[in-house]
Amino acid sequence: MKLSNAILDILHKLLPSQRPIGLHEPEFGETEKALVTDCLDSGWVSSVGSYVDRFEQDLADVTGIPHAIATVNGTAALHTCLILAGVQPGDEVLLPALTFVGSANPVAQLGATPHFVDCETETLGVDPQRLADYLADITELRDGTCFNKHTNRPIHALMVVHVLGHPARMDELAAITERHRLTLIEDAAESLGSWRGGRHTGSWGRLAALSFNGNKIITSGGGGALLTSDPDMAQRAKHLTTTAKRPHPWAFEHDAVGHNYRLPNLNAALGCAQLERLPERLAQKRRLAERYAAAFAGIPGLHFQLEPEDCRSNYWLNLLLLPDAEQRDQLLAAAHAEDIHLRPFWTPLHRQPMYRDAPRMDLPCTETLFARGVCLPSSAALGDGT
Ligand SMILES: *Cc1c(COP(=O)(O)O)cnc(C)c1O
Repeated sequence: MKLSNAILDILHKLLPSQRPIGLHEPEFGETEKALVTDCLDSGWVSSVGSYVDRFEQDLADVTGIPHAIATVNGTAALHTCLILAGVQPGDEVLLPALTFVGSANPVAQLGATPHFVDCETETLGVDPQRLADYLADITELRDGTCFNKHTNRPIHALMVVHVLGHPARMDELAAITERHRLTLIEDAAESLGSWRGGRHTGSWGRLAALSFNGNKIITSGGGGALLTSDPDMAQRAKHLTTTAKRPHPWAFEHDAVGHNYRLPNLNAALGCAQLERLPERLAQKRRLAERYAAAFAGIPGLHFQLEPEDCRSNYWLNLLLLPDAEQRDQLLAAAHAEDIHLRPFWTPLHRQPMYRDAPRMDLPCTETLFARGVCLPSSAALGDGT
C-alpha cells in the first residue's frame, strides 16, 4: 500500500467524519460570550479597559514571567521587542530559516537584516552546537560588539522560535548569546503552555512575544503580548505601544514616535475567557498527540514528532515526517482532495524572494524538515476522540 494511503487510513480512524477538517480551529463557549458581552455593555471596547489589564495579569500568572504587555498581534509584539532590544538599521539579527514569515518581517521593517540559522531535529528550534561553531567562525568582538566579519555589520540579537510549540534548547542558546554579547529574544508565538525544565518558554529571553491569532492555541481574534521580567523594559513597552503618550487626565503629549499597538479591550475580553480554558486545551492536545503517536508508531518510514526531553510541549501543531518531498506532496494532495487540511512547513525564509539574498549558514536540517514535514489536524477538540 502507498504510504499516503496508509496515513489516510489512520486519519480516517482517528478523526471525526465531518468535512472539512481544518488544521487548527478555535473553539468558544459560554464564558467567551459572557465576557465579550460584558465588554460591549461597558462601552470600553478599544485600547483602554479593564480586560486588557486583567489579560496581562493572567498571562503573567500563567507563564510565571512577571510582565506581559498586550498588543494587537504577535508581529507587533516582536517589532516592539526588537525596538526595545535596540536593534538599529544596518544591524543583523540571527533567526531560524524554518519559521513563519512574521518572525523575520519586523527585523526587515526596522531596516535590519535577518541572518538565517539552521535548526535541529529533536526540538525543531535553533541548533546550539552548529550555531556556536558558526559564530566562532564568522564573528569577532570589536569593543564588546559582535560583528559579522564577512558583511562588517554588527550582529545585535538572536531570535529563537519555539517551532510548533516545542521548546528550543534555551540554556545552551542563552550561553551562546552571552558569549557573543547578543540580546536574546524569544518568538513564543506558538508556545503558550510549553515548558522546558519547569520554565515557561519566553522566560530566558530579555524579551519575548506571544500570539493569539485565530489559529494559535488560544485566540483573542487577533492579538499578541510582549513578555519580560525587566520592569523597565515592561514600562517602555507599554509606553511605546500606546503612542508614547504621557499619562495625563486630558492633555495629549507624546515624547517619542510611538505605535498604536495596544490590544483592544474587546479582544482582551475574549482572550481572558480563552485563557481560562488553557489547562483543558493543553490536556486535549496532549491526548491528541498521544493518539497520533501510537497510531503512527508501527509504520516504517514515518516519524511522529514528540516533545523534546525534559520539556512539556503544548503540541500546538502535530508534525509527521515522511521519507521525502515526493511522498509529502502525495499525502498533501490526497488529504486535500478529501477536505482534510494538512499542510507542509512554511517554505523556509531564505527561499522567499524578499529574503533570498539575506546572509545565512548552511541549512541542511531546515531543508530536510521542510521536505519531509506535514502538519496534521491539531484542533484541541479532536483530542476528545471520535
Ligand atoms: C503566528 C506567528 C507569528 C505572528 O503572530 P501574529 O499574531 O499572526 O502577528 C510570529 N511568529 C510565529 C512563529 C508565529 O507562528
